[in-house]
Amino acid sequence: MFGKMPRYISALAILALGATVAWPALAAPKVVVSIAPLHSLVAAVMEGVGEPVLLVPPSASPHAFSLRPSDAQALANADIVFRVGADMETFLDKPLAALASGIVVTLDGAPGITEQSIATDGASDHNHGHDDHTSDPHIWLSIANARRIAEIAAETLGDSDGENAQTYSQNLATLDRRLDSLQRDLETRLSTTQTPPYIVLHDAYRHFEAEFGLQRAAAIALSPERRPGARRLREIRDLLVAEDIKCVFAEPQFPNAIAATVVDGTNARLAELDPIGADLAIGPDLYFDLMNNLGRALSDCLSG
Ligand SMILES: [Zn+2]
Repeated sequence: MFGKMPRYISALAILALGATVAWPALAAPKVVVSIAPLHSLVAAVMEGVGEPVLLVPPSASPHAFSLRPSDAQALANADIVFRVGADMETFLDKPLAALASGIVVTLDGAPGITEQSIATDGASDHNHGHDDHTSDPHIWLSIANARRIAEIAAETLGDSDGENAQTYSQNLATLDRRLDSLQRDLETRLSTTQTPPYIVLHDAYRHFEAEFGLQRAAAIALSPERRPGARRLREIRDLLVAEDIKCVFAEPQFPNAIAATVVDGTNARLAELDPIGADLAIGPDLYFDLMNNLGRALSDCLSG
């Protein structure tokens, strides 16, 4: 009894515990991330230590999501939760308010995160159900913001898990280098293209457009939570014809018929932009695949 504990006992106990609460690693902090692109950046910072849990599958829109019981459980046990903010994951407001312990990191509005304002009087009001909403909450579509998000993640993780602080900061340095080369690649791809205005499904790309000097003509959906009506679709068709728009971009998180209706019978091409990464493998590479896909979809359609 006083001898050495057989190693398998603690290992089994760990495995059993791991199985009930579904945490992948023992020593790592229990981290929950709301959406796939943020999850990708946090996962890159945590590489070799543990894996964060993702709440919203990338095929779903975070604007119209409800929490499953298993997610609520993961959230209740979390040490750290990373999210965009109240304008993005509305479904998180109540569960997070009920959180007993744990740190919630809200990235929209955090120091060093740039904002892109949205004109609330215009035709492209991205409300997310908040009438006073004035900035584009898709903050991860700026690489400068992605760098800052990764930095905040590394700081937060290092503070709560000092033992792995060095790994987090090494991972951050690696991630920064990858982000630098992503930025150069996208600048090359998008600057060689004279990009005419285009139409997007919902007003999600202001950060990306500002960073790479792109100009969209309009967004079809006035709010990501409501399907655009017949009148709105007519307005967009009129604009498309009047300005000879070449490209209309659908999104996999929304019904394809909306964008298809707009281009039907016109010279415009129908293509796709995905701000979340519906078809991508979840993990550290998702962010890079997502951004490269956006750059490729835009340059292919607009220069084609
Ligand atoms: Zn959106």
